[in-house]
Amino acid sequence: MKLEPTGGGGIRLGGLFRFSASRPGEESTIEDQFQIAIEVPRVFPRDIPVVFETGGRIPRLPEFHVNSDGSLCLGSPVRLLAIVAGSPSILSFVDRTLVPFLFAVSKSVTSGRSFPFGELPHGASGALADYQAMFGLTTAPQAKQALWALSLKKRVANKRPCPCGCGLRLGRCRVRLKLNPLRNAASRAWFAREAKKL
Ligand SMILES: [Zn+2]
Repeated sequence: MKLEPTGGGGIRLGGLFRFSASRPGEESTIEDQFQIAIEVPRVFPRDIPVVFETGGRIPRLPEFHVNSDGSLCLGSPVRLLAIVAGSPSILSFVDRTLVPFLFAVSKSVTSGRSFPFGELPHGASGALADYQAMFGLTTAPQAKQALWALSLKKRVANKRPCPCGCGLRLGRCRVRLKLNPLRNAASRAWFAREAKKL
């Protein structure tokens, strides 16, 4: 893959991406290759890479987990942020998000079956479902409120009502223990941006 600068001060890695992968407990290994571009933001790992399939093999359709701008939907933004915060290298990001994604695409193409991706729906509703699971919440509005809490200073957010509906301030509820580790992973503006998309 080639390395190029991007307008925003980040870098773009583009070219043929080869991989081999298998699912745990399954014999068969899939080897395949896709034309891929990975845009790494200037502030990585405090923002997440955006990945495009540029060879035209993956239909730009929600059921293939491709966003309307052609980027691949590799997971919910906060999930991806947690991954890069925990292991801040492009290689690790690729191993943990892009390879499983392309594995699923490749498998669906070769078997003719429907896209064997996770149960999460695409887009905002999928992200909200993922945030409910990540933060131990039960409704989409609660998940959205949790994202807004991350966009506030910790001491301000902790004085507000907890998103879980427990009736306590956030600072008194266990939900804060799920949110606080993410606070250093990105700026408050990043979380505000993601909350606005929901
Ligand atoms: Zn609570």
